[in-house]
Formats: sequence, C-alpha cells, structure tokens
Amino acid sequence: MRIDILTLFPEIMEGSFSASIMKRAQEKGYAEIHLHNIRDYSTNKHKKVDDYQYGGGAGMVMAIEPIAAVIEKLKTERLYDEIIYMSPDGVVLDQAICNQFSVVNNLMILCGHYKGVDERVREHYITKEISIGSYVLSGGELAAAVLVDAVVRLIPGVLNDETSALTDSFQDNLLSPPVYTRPPEFNGWKVPDVLLSGDFNKIDKWREEQALERTKQRRPDLLE
Ligand code: SAH
Repeated sequence: MRIDILTLFPEIMEGSFSASIMKRAQEKGYAEIHLHNIRDYSTNKHKKVDDYQYGGGAGMVMAIEPIAAVIEKLKTERLYDEIIYMSPDGVVLDQAICNQFSVVNNLMILCGHYKGVDERVREHYITKEISIGSYVLSGGELAAAVLVDAVVRLIPGVLNDETSALTDSFQDNLLSPPVYTRPPEFNGWKVPDVLLSGDFNKIDKWREEQALERTKQRRPDLLE
C-alpha cells in the first residue's frame, strides 16, 4: 500500500513512522509512506499557505491553491482509492473503517491546521472525512498518524503472528481478554491457573468468557 500525506508540518509525523511496527512494515515493503510539505507547492514569494477568513473572525484558513497543486500532481501519477481529510466533523474512526482501508492500494491523507482548509478543497477533492474523536487537535498530523498506524498494522504480513491482529480488541466487536507473562507469581499476585494448565480448549473458552465479560462491563454498546 502507498500512503501520501499532505501536511504543513511533516516533522510532527516523522517519529511515528520511524520505529517499531510502522518502520518494519516499510522496510519489508508492505507500506510506502510519503510525506509532502504543502508549503513546497506555494507559488507565493513568501511561501504563504494560509490567509484570513472571508467574513472575518479569528483564525487562519489554509488556502486552496497549494493544496490543489499537490493533489493534482499526485493524481496524475496514480489512481487513489480515497483522498481523506482528517477533520473533527468527519466520520469517527473505528476498527471496521481501518479494516476497509487496509486492503486498498493508494491512500492520500490531507492534514489541516489552524482553522482548517478552505471548504472548496473538501467539496471538490476529498472523498472521505475522518475524525479520531470528539475533541479538537491543533492539526491533522497526529490524527493521520493514528489512522495510518491502525491501518498499516492490519495489512496481511505486517504483524509477525498473523493471528495477533485478529485477536485484538474490536475485531468481532469484542474487547481483548487480559494477558499475562512470566513470572507466574509476583508479590503474591498470581496468573490465573487456567492459563498454566496447558489445556488449550479450556484456555480458549476462558479467553472468550473474559472477552465477553470485559465487553459487557466496559463497552456494552459493542454488543448491541
Ligand atoms: N475549526 C475546526 C478545527 C480545526 S483544528 C473545527 O472547529 O472543526 C485544525 C485541524 O486539525 C483540522 O483541520 C483537522 O485536520 C485536524 N483535527 C483537529 N481535530 C481533529 C480530530 N478530532 N480528528 C481528526 N482531525 C482533527
């Protein structure tokens, strides 16, 4: 999968893609992530990318020209499955959306900043608007990093143990059961006996029960 991210602040995102699973996914060729600085596409002599809003009011608006220039250029190079704008008024991201994105070839993601982007960008270029929750961030960069991480780890082959994504929370609309590792006892706090029993039928059953119980207690909405 190829992901092109359009931003005014690529440096905010670089760290999140340069370690751990995201780094490995790129090294192994499962994901190709390209950061494009929108400022490089400004034709203004001061490299200006924002302006005051029509009608007055606080906050700068990202202008359409440099954004359109990047999008138009990238669109001549390949066909994009989606052109996504990160936005607090978009569809709230969930695991089902991540699963859908994890099988596409080309994604473009636009990060807003300040008051956001000129509405005409959204009307004429954007195919999906995604929010990561009901709160406002300073920019779309952290939101885009969340989206990319959640999607890329689902690409088949990215996680070493293929089943490990399938048993995560929200797959099957269930939260994940509790997990333990050695030592079997710490400060008198014991690992549940069943996990040490070696009886894998019993262990599977215990995990299912725990997942269901946890979901009932913490996220009953998932079971509706
Ligand atoms: N004026 C806008 C907020 C702008 S915040 C409003 O009230 O709706 C600046 C940028 O941060 C946005 O353009 C968007 O790209 C990003 N952003 C902020 N909160 C976000 C969220 N919850 N999810 C996704 N992107 C968000």
